[in-house]
Amino acid sequence: MRITMVGTGYVGLVTGTCLANTGNVVTCLDIDRAKIDKLNRGVSPIYEPGLDELISRNVKAHRLLFTTEKWSAYQDAQIILICVGTPSDAQGQADLQYVLAAAEDIGCAMEQAPGESGGSAEERRAQIIVVKSTVPVGTSARVKARIAQFTGKTFRMASNPEFLKEGAAINDFNKPDRVVIGCEDKGTGDRLRDLYEPFVRQGNPIFIMDIPSAEMVKYAANAMLAVKISFINEIANLCERYGADIDEVRRGMCSDRRIGNQFLYPGLGYGGSCFPKDVLACISMGEQSQSQTVLTIMQHLLASGAQVTAHDPVAHESCRRELGNQISYVDSAMDVLDDADALIICTDWDEFRHPDFDEMKSRMKSPVIFDGRNLYRLATMRQAGFTYYSVGRQASDSHTS
Ligand code: NAD
Repeated sequence: MRITMVGTGYVGLVTGTCLANTGNVVTCLDIDRAKIDKLNRGVSPIYEPGLDELISRNVKAHRLLFTTEKWSAYQDAQIILICVGTPSDAQGQADLQYVLAAAEDIGCAMEQAPGESGGSAEERRAQIIVVKSTVPVGTSARVKARIAQFTGKTFRMASNPEFLKEGAAINDFNKPDRVVIGCEDKGTGDRLRDLYEPFVRQGNPIFIMDIPSAEMVKYAANAMLAVKISFINEIANLCERYGADIDEVRRGMCSDRRIGNQFLYPGLGYGGSCFPKDVLACISMGEQSQSQTVLTIMQHLLASGAQVTAHDPVAHESCRRELGNQISYVDSAMDVLDDADALIICTDWDEFRHPDFDEMKSRMKSPVIFDGRNLYRLATMRQAGFTYYSVGRQASDSHTS
């Protein structure tokens, strides 16, 4: 197969070299000219046991090329694997600018490539665009949409997270515990399975699933590994405090097969290029999904003709991006209540916990609260004269008490 790696960093270079070594013709593309020049002089920009030899063998066999020429790299490929960096941005979210810039280039190149769009022959030839970078769930859908902004040609989308470890990358790639492929149709799954079949001859599994699940697997795995490291360190702290020996505790604990003994060594805590950023991105996904629930409620309210005023100490900006001026925004929790027929509480900021209930009631047109976070006691709300609906508890109606 003809393959293009977008990004010739740790993952792109190791993956590209190993795929070339199983007979594919691989073009490693990068925007960093110095890196590509170095590789073309036979110098690897990273140290990884066994990599130099593999690179030189596959370059000599004309199966491995390094380039900064994106148009031909994109147009000639049957499969394009995006392996650019996804560092943390200032909010801890995965910064997707490199992924989306690559998507734009791919869309433009695809549009300018010779060949008819549509038709069954073209369908069979459709390029597969694979996101290999570690990205939040939903990113491959964004990549697909970005490419489609620039081309009407048919292409296939897939996600294929990478699990290699620096220092053991060649071995990890050649003998993976598993290969995870997310795709939207069987044909794409089959073509990617063919690509990876040579690496699982020992019988390790290739899991084919939907794209969001594949994207989530990588974050779930890294978050779990980070938890294991942090967990054993917390136990080590307790051992120091109470005079126990962590090595003995570890032996006793890890002999339980449900726990196992991998990744449970005390130390300085986790670091490296992936765990800190992936854990932050995972937390950020959780926070965003919480604010998404706010958004969903507001969209339903607007659809049924309600007028909505919102307050959140941090989410106005993101909310504006989704809903624009369809709703009003206020900067104080009390101002949101003015003339309201009802209050819906969607987040549990500390500042909402002990409000002045009399002032709340005086500002509202009718004292009705739907509390999605169970912030208040039923008796308090009944006494304060609110009709109060919370989760998993009896509704409290001041009129019936
Ligand atoms: P890296 O920073 O080493 O390499 C990224 C490369 O992409 C750089 O050389 C950069 O110049 C290039 N690039 C950026 N934009 C480009 C564009 N538009 N076109 C072509 N090239 C472009 O990153 P990495 O360590 O290889 O990681 C890549 C992804 O894989 C990240 O999402 C990372 O989280 C994930 N990952 C990394 C590891 C690891 O051990 N390093 C393991 C598994 C997954």
